[in-house]
Amino acid sequence: MSDTLNIVCPHCHAVNRVPAARLAQEPNCGKCHQPLFTAHPVALTATTFAKHVERSDIPVLVDFWAPWCGPCKMMAPQFEQAARLLEPRVRLAKVDTEAEQVLGAQYGIRSIPTLALFSGGREIARQPGAMGAQDIVRWVQSHLR
Ligand SMILES: [Zn+2]
Repeated sequence: MSDTLNIVCPHCHAVNRVPAARLAQEPNCGKCHQPLFTAHPVALTATTFAKHVERSDIPVLVDFWAPWCGPCKMMAPQFEQAARLLEPRVRLAKVDTEAEQVLGAQYGIRSIPTLALFSGGREIARQPGAMGAQDIVRWVQSHLR
């Protein structure tokens, strides 16, 4: 791990350079001055998705979901809890595949919910189906070792 990491702000989507040692010290965005980590998944759209996935030096875990999907709603609080457990090592994000159909098609999402883990701009793992918070954390950690 390098000494300075690119962290994309979940509020204004500016790319911040943060010393690795300061990651856990609740750093704020240099542009909008809001916290870079909020313990909540960030909702991404077609315009912000690539920036987070391609510019973040930390892995990005994306929950592809839709408002009409019952299992997605059941998993939402579990995903929130996973954000509290995984930040600031991992950025958690959500993509509403009904509002962002281009993203769903681009990544070939066939069933929801689907979790996809990105690292260095590339998808390194994918898991369809709802999971509990502890299982999400275990699944992510198994792919980051
Ligand atoms: Zn910001």
